[in-house]
Amino acid sequence: MLHEIIPVGMLQCNCSIFGDETSGEAVVIDPGDEIDRILAILERHQLRVKAIVITHAHIDHIGGAQKLKAATGAPVYMNANDQELYDHLDMQAGWLGIEAPDRTDIDVNAREGETLQLGTAEFHVLATPGHTQGSISLWIPAENKLVAGDTLFLDSIGRTDLPGGNHRQILRSIHDKLLPLADNVVVIPGHGQNTTIGRERRRNPFLQGL
Ligand SMILES: [Zn+2]
Repeated sequence: MLHEIIPVGMLQCNCSIFGDETSGEAVVIDPGDEIDRILAILERHQLRVKAIVITHAHIDHIGGAQKLKAATGAPVYMNANDQELYDHLDMQAGWLGIEAPDRTDIDVNAREGETLQLGTAEFHVLATPGHTQGSISLWIPAENKLVAGDTLFLDSIGRTDLPGGNHRQILRSIHDKLLPLADNVVVIPGHGQNTTIGRERRRNPFLQGL
C-alpha cells in the first residue's frame, strides 16, 4: 500500500493519500487545502479516488473537500455530528481571516463500525469525539496504522476550547478507542510528526493516570 502524507494549507494539516497499486484506487483523508498538489500525487501514481474521508469538520481538514470531490467524483465521508460545524465554515474562515471555500454535500455518515475497503485493507471508523463532536479516527489493521485527526498528537491531544470541544470526552475517546491498540501501532496525527500508541501511552503528559 502506498501512503503519502503531505502537510497542506496555512495550518499544515496532514493529508494522507493511501493508494492500492493493484486496483489503482485511493483513499484521501483530510484534503484541507492545496488540492492541486494532492491531484498531482494521484496523477503521478495513476490513482483513482474511491473515497474522501474527513476526520472532523475544521476548515484546515475539510477546506478542500468540495474541490477534490469536483475533480474526482469521489464520495465524501464525514461523521454527521460535525455537520453543524461544517455548516459554519464561513465562521471558521472568519477566525482565520481567510475567505470561506465552497462547501459540498456529505455522501456517507462515517459512524463507529463503518468500514471502507481499499484493496485488501479495511479502514475502520472509530468514533473519537471530544476535539469536535463528530471527530473520527481511522484504524487500518493491515497497515498497523491509525489516522488520528486532531484527537491524538505526539506529546499532546486535541484542543477542546473551540465550539463542540469537550476535554473529558476526548480523554474518554482516547482511553476507550485508541489506547486498547498495540504499542507498535503507528499514529498519523492531524498535524506534526508521526508517533506510536506505545510512545504516547508512556510519555504523553495528557494521558498519565488515564
Ligand atoms: Zn481540528
